[in-house]
Amino acid sequence: MSLTTLRATVVGAGIVGAAIAYRLSRAGCRVRLIDRASAPGEGVTAHSFGWIGHTPFALETTRATFRRRAAALAQHRALDRELGGRLGLAPCGALFWTRDPERVERLFRIGAAADAPLRLLSAAETAERAPVLTEPPPLAIDAPEDCALNPIGAAGALVAAACELGAETRFGCPVDAIEIGRAGAAVVRAGGARIESDLAVVAAGADSAALLGDLAPPPLTRSPSVLVRLDVARDGLSPILSGPELEVRAAGPGALIAAESAPAAPTAADLERIGRETLEAARRLLAPLGPMALQSVAVGARPMTPPDAPLVGRLRAAPAVMIAAAHPGVILAPSIAQAIADELAGRENREALGLSLVRY
Ligand SMILES: Cc1cc2nc3c(=O)[nH]c(=O)nc-3n(C[C@H](O)[C@H](O)[C@H](O)COP(=O)(O)OP(=O)(O)OC[C@H]3O[C@@H](n4cnc5c(N)ncnc54)[C@H](O)[C@@H]3O)c2cc1C
Repeated sequence: MSLTTLRATVVGAGIVGAAIAYRLSRAGCRVRLIDRASAPGEGVTAHSFGWIGHTPFALETTRATFRRRAAALAQHRALDRELGGRLGLAPCGALFWTRDPERVERLFRIGAAADAPLRLLSAAETAERAPVLTEPPPLAIDAPEDCALNPIGAAGALVAAACELGAETRFGCPVDAIEIGRAGAAVVRAGGARIESDLAVVAAGADSAALLGDLAPPPLTRSPSVLVRLDVARDGLSPILSGPELEVRAAGPGALIAAESAPAAPTAADLERIGRETLEAARRLLAPLGPMALQSVAVGARPMTPPDAPLVGRLRAAPAVMIAAAHPGVILAPSIAQAIADELAGRENREALGLSLVRY
């Protein structure tokens, strides 16, 4: 089937669904985007830290991980150019370190062997790169090309661009079920309506598992993580900082955000403790920024797949239905959208995208 006659329904207008809706609209498909929320990016995307970078979050990493990250960053840049800068990718760079300098050096060597644009910085060099650090670590990795993104704003920009290309949106519309109709067509049941299309893409984040449970339960888990917002007296933090105590970045004038891990089912007391500890860590790490105060603590459920192994592809039981769920989803969203468009067009460039589609 030609892409220009393909009717696609995308469920979920988080960063992943928004990127897919845009990319398929641009490819000429007739796209309908549905979300139960009232606006784009109100799922876990709203609570994302928005680090788009070369540095993998985990230390247990390989050259392949670095290459996949470079491919994902290249996709973000290309998408931002295509949208005339509306995606809002901000090239701020990032500094990464751990308590153990040997591990930092080891990670740097793996990255360097994968041609990642990284530098290894001494304490003096780190102090120059990030003068707001109270006490620079003995060794840090500098990733000068890493970027930050406001994910909720990016999702909004992608949905607006998709609409300009003819996509229809339905917000405030919960999807109740995904079914298979006549001749294998995909049927999305939402708000009493029965929407039949050639393809349904389920990009409902961590809720994708519940939506697809009757057709084929996907190997996807919910993984809570916490975003802490701080008010700060002085600006001046430029690169993203990721150390053993804190992962933090500037988020506009007078504001910092920090990403924190969370217990499996965080309680109000857990969130209160995480907020307090994050504030204390930020005050210690970034003393030159002056007084700070806690603004908010929010928890989001990440659609957890093995790192850099996104769950993107058709269901064996229902080939007119695709799932698009991934961690880290903000980093991978443009690559996922491109991979789906390529699959529909019968193109093979998955190597360049650094991800492969699955069938489960
Ligand atoms: C603290 C924190 C920090 C993070 N930092 C990063 C980072 O630096 N980089 C990175 O890449 N990732 C990061 N992540 C992960 C990232 O936020 C997610 O991987 C990504 O946002 C997932 O996007 P999504 O579009 O798949 O999901 P979502 O944003 O959850 O979107 C799913 C959408 O589906 C809709 N939906 C769900 N069910 C239904 C239904 N039944 N009917 C209709 N609509 C439905 C929801 O309303 C929602 O809008 C972080 C997450 C957290 C919490």
